[in-house]
Amino acid sequence: MGLEEVAGRVKECRKCPLFRNRTQAVPGEGPEDARVLFIGEAPGREEDLSGKPFVGRAGKLLTELLEDAGLKRNRVFITSVIKCRPPDNRLPKRDETNACYPYLKEQIRILKPDIIVLLGNTAIKTVVGLNGITKLHGKVIIKEKENYLPMFHPAAGVRNRKLIPLMKEDMEGLSRHLIKLGAC
Ligand code: SF4
Repeated sequence: MGLEEVAGRVKECRKCPLFRNRTQAVPGEGPEDARVLFIGEAPGREEDLSGKPFVGRAGKLLTELLEDAGLKRNRVFITSVIKCRPPDNRLPKRDETNACYPYLKEQIRILKPDIIVLLGNTAIKTVVGLNGITKLHGKVIIKEKENYLPMFHPAAGVRNRKLIPLMKEDMEGLSRHLIKLGAC
């Protein structure tokens, strides 16, 4: 199965109640040979309307952070733990995360990225089972031979501009890590 097939299944999915209120599911986007995978929490209003990940204000900030660190958005794959928008952007429930997680695992299996960036607490908790973005951000975690890098979710930077210098540092750290791996 390739990324297109996963996306097709996500768009048709009715495995949890979130399918009822979605305009469109948001499987993720990026090239199949991406060396970096970014994982956010869930689609928001703009993403639900467009079917694309990170297209609102948080997405704009993510693109700026990538570009400032010398990385190209069209060379990374961007998705989220949950592929359909929760009502009023509430946190995903455990049963929703459990239902949706197999799609993310399949995307990771297909992409085999050099590093997986976990944007915010929901992604960190779901993927590596840890809590506490404030202490974890910017530090590479190696688990079951995968490299994970927790970062603040861009929406946190939109709400609190004081976080942006830290987010820039972390993105520059990612860029240095990729250079070391020979991945950019
Ligand atoms: S959130 Fe995930 S599991 Fe739930 S309906 Fe959407 S794609 Fe399916």
